[in-house]
Amino acid sequence: MLAAEKQKIMDFLDLTDDFLGSGYKSGRNTENFKEDAPETIEKISEEIRICKNCQLGNLRKNAVPGEGSLNPLVMVIGEGPGMDEDDQGRPFVGKAGHLLDKMLASIGLSRNSNAFIANVVKCRPPGNRDPYPEEASACSGFLERQILLLKPKFILAAGRISAQTLLKTAEPIGKLRGSFTDFKAGGLTFPLFVIYHPAAVLRNDSLRRPVWEDLKILRSRMEEQYGGELKIEGV
Ligand code: URA
Repeated sequence: MLAAEKQKIMDFLDLTDDFLGSGYKSGRNTENFKEDAPETIEKISEEIRICKNCQLGNLRKNAVPGEGSLNPLVMVIGEGPGMDEDDQGRPFVGKAGHLLDKMLASIGLSRNSNAFIANVVKCRPPGNRDPYPEEASACSGFLERQILLLKPKFILAAGRISAQTLLKTAEPIGKLRGSFTDFKAGGLTFPLFVIYHPAAVLRNDSLRRPVWEDLKILRSRMEEQYGGELKIEGV
């Protein structure tokens, strides 16, 4: 913040002080002005862990802020934590998470190297119900801060809830999957790609082929633009 801006704030505080008090101008000094701590992923995570912006904050065992690369080629955004994630405070660690890790590995991505894994809501909806729109919007500030801090080259929306929430649409997942859409946040634009949720693939075998076809589209685009950052392990 500029010194002139700080001084304006100090002057305003002095005037408020004068108005509320006896008229003595205290003459605050900008040297005492405390800047906000810089944004970090740990700062966002700490705020998420104590968040009570919606009812899910009272029902969770553990909030699940997200994890992975701090310089991600891809940021995966799922729906919200399930039971395993709520137990461990980590995203996608149950059966669907194991499949997600395999899907990512097949196109050269991993949460240990070049992907960050997040969710639309950071606390488990009871009984794994879909998050309510007001829960998603109570959490949207955290997700936006994560996106703007990490600036992923691509966003991968996993599943209907994630895709519909991020794209602000009611289009069915069958129409949204397999294509890129511009996602805008904080004056920046991110290419967002939609796939079926791994949990849906586990429930419905017929989604295996389309999800693999979709992953190949994403892989081609990543290779075209960022080939050097990919370590494709085959499939
Ligand atoms: N499903 C999700 O959408 N997110 C998780 O973190 C786990 C399961």
